Amino acid sequence: MNIKLYSIILKLLHLFSFMDIEQKVEQTLKKIRLKKKEKILVAISGGKDSAVTAYLLKRLGYKIKGIHIDLGLGKYSENCLKSVKELCNKLKIKLYLYSVKKETGKTMSDIFKHKDEKLSNCTLCGVMKKWLLNKKARELKADKIATGHNFNDGLETFLMNLFKGSQNSNLNSVPILKTKNKKFIVRIKPLFFIANGKIENYCKKLNLPVYKKICPYRGETYRVETRDFVKKLSDKEKKNLMKNFLELAEKIKKDEKETRYCEVCGEPSRKNLCKRCELLNSKI
Ligand code: SF4
Ligand code: ZN
Repeated sequence: MNIKLYSIILKLLHLFSFMDIEQKVEQTLKKIRLKKKEKILVAISGGKDSAVTAYLLKRLGYKIKGIHIDLGLGKYSENCLKSVKELCNKLKIKLYLYSVKKETGKTMSDIFKHKDEKLSNCTLCGVMKKWLLNKKARELKADKIATGHNFNDGLETFLMNLFKGSQNSNLNSVPILKTKNKKFIVRIKPLFFIANGKIENYCKKLNLPVYKKICPYRGETYRVETRDFVKKLSDKEKKNLMKNFLELAEKIKKDEKETRYCEVCGEPSRKNLCKRCELLNSKI
């Protein structure tokens, strides 16, 4: 085939796949009934997923603002913050900045040094991020928190929960997570049905400022092993897994008990202590 024609076809295919991303995100937002007047905080980490989430929500006409949690992971966090600021400038959105150090007196890297060996850095980090995001979003009177979790993240979480025997945790990973708890801010995942590779290409095409290096604190976690396993699955297997995940989450939702408040920090919790206080309180 003529090289010029080949490159035109390639460009067209790319264009269609990008249109596909935008349409799928629109469909997801329609399904979760996101309203244009709602105040949405996008949790921007410095990576591609949250950058694309912010870009698409803004492009589709939603009222968004950015929120970033500085984890205090040395140079890595500094570079993430730089990308976050550049992105917010480019998209012309307001950015709210918080730091784990200011909120708790210690950085995440300090907390990692004294953690229980059985806990991975990412588990502690994830728990702290969620806890702070909910608290700050509530103080800012946000209606929703949008995160950049994608299709692959969803599958990995589903499998990890099944392997660990904690299938009820799957409820936390659905495209829209709401509870009756007044202190809980609804969390949405606009990229939930978009595969990781597609987001990567889309982000590259848009030239969004993102920090691409892998976090030096990540380590060989259970998630990384599961990610490698998911990569080997066929598209059909991935689709079937996702179907099972959504059906199971729907069943669990029906038996879901009401959330309470943590005895220590007062934040929403399914048990007497929230995850952050259970795992971290003795460390901070
Ligand atoms: Fe935190 Fe793990 Fe992400 Fe690093 S990779 S920022 S330790 S969750
Ligand atoms: Zn707590």
